[in-house]
Amino acid sequence: MTSMTRPAITSPTQLFIGGTWRTANSARKFDVVDPATGEVIAVVDDADISDAEAAMAAAVAAQESWAQTAPRTRSEILSRAFHLIIARTEELAAIITAEMGKPLADARGEVAYGAEFFRWFSEEAVRISGDHTLTGDGKNRIIVTRAPVGPSILVTPWNFPLAMGTRKIGPALAAGCTVVFKPAEQTPLTALALAAILLEAGVPDGVVNVVPTTDAAGVVGSWMASGSARKISFTGSTAVGKILLAQAAPTVMRTSMELGGNAPFIVAEDADLDRAVDGAMVAKMRNMGEACTAANRFLVHRSLANDFAAELAARMGALTVGAGSRPGVEVGPLIDRSGRAKVQRLVDDALARGARAVVGGQEDPGPGYFYPPTVLDDVDARSDLMSTEIFGPVAAIVPYDTEDEVIALANDTEWGLVGYVFTQDIDRALRMGERLEVGMVGINTGLVSNPAAPFGGVKQSGLGREGGKVGIDEFLEYKYFAIPRS
Ligand code: NAP
Repeated sequence: MTSMTRPAITSPTQLFIGGTWRTANSARKFDVVDPATGEVIAVVDDADISDAEAAMAAAVAAQESWAQTAPRTRSEILSRAFHLIIARTEELAAIITAEMGKPLADARGEVAYGAEFFRWFSEEAVRISGDHTLTGDGKNRIIVTRAPVGPSILVTPWNFPLAMGTRKIGPALAAGCTVVFKPAEQTPLTALALAAILLEAGVPDGVVNVVPTTDAAGVVGSWMASGSARKISFTGSTAVGKILLAQAAPTVMRTSMELGGNAPFIVAEDADLDRAVDGAMVAKMRNMGEACTAANRFLVHRSLANDFAAELAARMGALTVGAGSRPGVEVGPLIDRSGRAKVQRLVDDALARGARAVVGGQEDPGPGYFYPPTVLDDVDARSDLMSTEIFGPVAAIVPYDTEDEVIALANDTEWGLVGYVFTQDIDRALRMGERLEVGMVGINTGLVSNPAAPFGGVKQSGLGREGGKVGIDEFLEYKYFAIPRS
C-alpha cells in the first residue's frame, strides 16, 4: 500500500517576511511528514514570536501603499497569480499530496478550485463600489465609500492547504489589505509555494507574509494582541475559533470564522437512489471525508435505508486505498495518527450501540495513516459520531420515518454549515432546505463549494462568508461622507 515514487518537493522552506525568504530567528526547524508513510519529506523554518512580530511590522508598513495601489494593479497581480497556479498544477498537486495525503487527482482538483479564488477576486477588485444618496429631508448628500479594513491575520487548516489560503488571500488583496498568514503545521509547503507564486506575480514587499510555526498559539496570539491587526479570518475547528473570538474582543477586531460542520445528508422517500448515492460519494469521500462540508450524518427514509446502505457500501468498498501519489488511488491516508484514532473511536462507539458495519470498520495498522471506507447502517442517533465531526471516510446511516422527524434530527446540532437534500419533489426540496439551520443547502448534489458562491455557516459553524459577491466585504469597511447641499 505504501510503495510509491516520491514526488519532487519544490517548495521553499523558509519564512516569507517583507518580500524576502528568511530563516527563523531561533534557527529552529520542524519536520513535514508524508501521512502515507510517516516519513519526513521536508524541514521548514519554525517561526517564534519575534518572527511573528517582524511579519506584522512588514504588513503594517506595506498597508498604506497597498491600499493606495490602483484596483486594476491589484487585480492584475491576482490574475497573474491565478495563471501561474494553473501553469504549475502538477508541481502544486504533488506538494499537496505529499504533505496532506489526498490522491493526486483530488489535489489537481484543489489546485483548480483554489486558483479560481484568485481569478474571482481579481475580477472583484475592480468592482468595489459605493453609494450616493440624499438624506430624507433633502438637505444633505450622503456619499458612501469602501476602505480596506487594514492588516489582516489569516489562519488556515491542513485539509485544503492551497484553497483555504487563496480563499482568504484573494479577497484580502483585492480589498487592499496586507496579510500575515499562518498555515497549518502539517501543511506549510503548499503555503510557501503559494508565497513564491505571489512574489513572482508581483506582490509588493510586505503585502503577503507567510509564517509557518509549531507555536500556533504564540504566533497568532502575538498578532491578536499586537493592536496592529484589524481583522482575523480563521478557518479551522470551532474550539480554536472560540479562543480567537475571545482574543479579538480586547481590540474589537473584525472577525470571519469558517468553523466545523456536522452536515446532514437527507434522502427522502421519493429520491432517485442512484443520484443520491452519487451525491453521497462526493459529499462523503471528497478529501477522504476530511472536509468541513463532509456529510456526517446520512438520514435516509426507512423505505430506502437498506438499499441505500448496500449501494453505498458497494461503491465505497470498491475504492482503491493507498498512497495518493500512486496512479489509480482514490482514497489516501488520513492526516495523522490521532486523526485516524479518532475515527476508530467513533466507529467503535457506534458499533457498541448496535450499528452494523456493512463495509470497513477497522483501521489499517500502517505504515501510513490509512482508514478503509466504511458504511455503518442502523446507527443509533445518540452515537458520538452524530454529534462529532468524523473527518474520515465513514458513512453513518440513520433511518427516519417522517419529514418533521428528519428536520428535527438534522437541526439537533450546534453546527450549521451545510445540509444536503435528495428528493425529486421541488416543493419538498425547497421546504426542507428552508427548514434546515445551515448556511448552504445542496439539492440533489453533494458539492456546494464554488468561488462564485457565498461559503459559510450559521450557529457554531461560523461568522461571515467567503467567496461570492459578499466575500470581499469581509475585508472592507464602510466610510460615509456627509455633505450639506448649499
Ligand atoms: P484547528 O486545530 O482548529 O487548526 C486550524 C488552524 O488554527 C491551524 O493553522 C492551527 O495551527 C491553528 N491553531 C491551533 N490552535 C491555535 C490557537 N490556540 N491559536 C491560534 N491558532 C491556532 O483545525 P484543523 O484540525 O487544522 O482543521 C480541521 C477543522 O477545520 C475542522 O473542524 C473543519 O471542519 C474545519 N474547517 C472548516 C472549514 C470551513 O470553511 N468552515 C474549512 C475547512 C476546515 P496548527 O496547525 O499549528 O495546530
